[in-house]
Amino acid sequence: MKVRAAVAYEGRNQFTIEQLDLSEPGPDDILVRIVGVGLCHTDVKALDGGMRVPKPIVLGHEGAGIVERVGERVTKVKTGDHVVLTYDSCGACRACAGGDPAYCEQTVALNFRDGRENEPGFLRKGDDRIHGHFFGQSSFASYAISRPQNTIPVRKDAPLEILGVLGCGVQTGAGAVMNSLAAKAGETVAIFGVGPVGLSAVMASVVCGCAEIVAIDVLESRLAMAKEIGATRCVLPGPNAIPSEEVRRIVPGGVNVAFDTTGRADSYQQALASLATKGRFGFVTVPAGTFEPKLGAMMLGGLTMRGIVQGDSVPDTFIPRLIDLHMNGRFPFDRLVTKYPFEQINRAIEDQASGKVVKPVFTFAQ
Ligand SMILES: [Zn+2]
Ligand SMILES: [Zn+2]
Repeated sequence: MKVRAAVAYEGRNQFTIEQLDLSEPGPDDILVRIVGVGLCHTDVKALDGGMRVPKPIVLGHEGAGIVERVGERVTKVKTGDHVVLTYDSCGACRACAGGDPAYCEQTVALNFRDGRENEPGFLRKGDDRIHGHFFGQSSFASYAISRPQNTIPVRKDAPLEILGVLGCGVQTGAGAVMNSLAAKAGETVAIFGVGPVGLSAVMASVVCGCAEIVAIDVLESRLAMAKEIGATRCVLPGPNAIPSEEVRRIVPGGVNVAFDTTGRADSYQQALASLATKGRFGFVTVPAGTFEPKLGAMMLGGLTMRGIVQGDSVPDTFIPRLIDLHMNGRFPFDRLVTKYPFEQINRAIEDQASGKVVKPVFTFAQ
């Protein structure tokens, strides 16, 4: 079948929108008509040549849509179901079997390397192969092929167009606070970097009933948004505002939980220095630059430092839970979203880079 897709070519830092051929789905596949798909930082990084993804490739990994057709062995969803697509996992390794699919042993192959390239559901342009299966979906396209493992059925009264963002960026930030760092009611939290992931962490801190939620960012517009959705205090770093000192001024003795989304070594250092005794620090990217935690202070303070993938989300339960919270007015992630027609994908990337918008979502005219 024909699909309209955004293709990332080697050496080009913009997407090219083209018509491709998508082969028939296999017996374990799900064909999804994409209604909306979010833009995540990982897409931009892959477009710019990071993460060694094979090219040319169709990226996109925050798809939401309607099940068009399912393979003969699929029982989890049926035609017409509304679904959110999320990261892929094998479902069989020790991590998956133990309820930790975010740490699947096949993560790299399934999400970044077109590990299913010889299976059904591949993309072609004429005789040329275009890589797909990015995060088990490649949803920068009018149709995508997923599998039961990364296809999450959702309630039909929720705004399907924007739900895709829950499949990666939003569940990463929300899950970091709710699952990985398990913030409790009355605890204090500092979020370093309030882009889409950090803002999701702010909303999650509100859900957890945290007493003080401090947002730290170099962009005033993002701090204003953080305040709107529940940050109690904001810190704009500067020569006279060292983040850890500001956090300690706001919360004497330091915070229980610090979460970093900036991927900057100096920010990691500040996050650790913000913690109270037995505080927990979580991070979601490998920092640029040298990061040398002060192990003596960590030991004597009883501090914990944790790497986090996808907010430890078990998508089958966590994504519907976030949607329920949203429908009850307790998780206003729609405030982060700006919708663009799919054709404006390159403009949206510029707008996000300049800080004009927080989280672009591309919609498909039918
Ligand atoms: Zn696995
Ligand atoms: Zn992502």
